[in-house]
Amino acid sequence: MMFIKKIGIDLGTCNSLVFIPGKGVVLQEPSVVAVTLSENKILAVGAIAKDMTGRTPETIRVYRPLRDGVIAEYRVTEAMLRYFIQKAGGKFRIFKPELMIGVPAGITSTERRAVIEAGISAGAKAVYVAKEPILAAIGAGIPINSCSGHMIVDIGGGTSEVAVISLGGIVTCHSVRTAGDKIDLSIADYIKRKYNLAIGTQTAEEIKIKIGTALPEEKEQFLEIRGRDLISGLPKNIKISSNETCEAMSDVLGEIIQVVKQVLRDTPPELSADIMDKGMILSGGGALLRNIDGLLSQTTGVPCFVADESLLCVAKGTGVVLENLEAYKKSIMSKK
Ligand code: ADP
Ligand code: MG
Repeated sequence: MMFIKKIGIDLGTCNSLVFIPGKGVVLQEPSVVAVTLSENKILAVGAIAKDMTGRTPETIRVYRPLRDGVIAEYRVTEAMLRYFIQKAGGKFRIFKPELMIGVPAGITSTERRAVIEAGISAGAKAVYVAKEPILAAIGAGIPINSCSGHMIVDIGGGTSEVAVISLGGIVTCHSVRTAGDKIDLSIADYIKRKYNLAIGTQTAEEIKIKIGTALPEEKEQFLEIRGRDLISGLPKNIKISSNETCEAMSDVLGEIIQVVKQVLRDTPPELSADIMDKGMILSGGGALLRNIDGLLSQTTGVPCFVADESLLCVAKGTGVVLENLEAYKKSIMSKK
């Protein structure tokens, strides 16, 4: 019988991942919980709950308990955390593990305490927290303890965080509440304005993932989608092109470009030179948007690379830190 003693968790606004040292990422599920309103009972967690989004009767409510990377619904988050820990263990027993949880760089101490408390009441013996940009950089394979400057751009669901890291710490960092969710909304808005067609956020996300592009392309891709005609009120199909998604998303992507530029402006010159040399690394689900690297390098003049398995970077980072607590002790914010 093997006992699991340490678990790393990326508690994201959109997706939560669990990393077990020696095993890797063992669970990757949407951070979504469905609750019955009458009895306040949890009906479903993860992918099953996400599929219910936009399809529930009045008696069921679907929550995304994390907003902008911090806990918005404490009880629901705690229940979700407990469920993920149990599920990640599979047939193994997880008894009072130590948790390493990634938190946004700009988190307040109260918000951080809430994360630690949720971990403890979900059954952990101790909870360590570390800043997400640092974990993302480690997970992307960046040697963060070196004295050279590295830039990481993490585009998640709720926020985009941009940080410059050197000697194991964050030198400059900014974040905006503009990321995947707002990109989805921009697509839904565009289709509403141009075609008088209402679509749900799930459909908008599907369009983004299947044909979305951050730069216009010569050979366009198309997708047939279904929505509700706002004039007749009836279902209607339309075909949308990848270049239309580019037009739809351009303002929102502009906001992400602005933060990257802001961080570049606020970075000490020695480190800027390093970043010019090595380029910036993109992590998070938003890094998978086609041509986002091209758009960022065109608009900032800094080379841009998408990390391998960008959705997994923070989770992998928690694992590396857990396995080398001593080497990364500077990067751990607090323990309880
Ligand atoms: P968080 O850390 O906030 O949970 P993630 O890093 O898991 O966020 O990223 C989730 C976001 O990434 C969602 O908005 C999702 O739509 C988006 N995403 C996932 N895959 C793709 C893709 N292939 N192209 C564009 N966006 C994607
Ligand atoms: Mg994230």
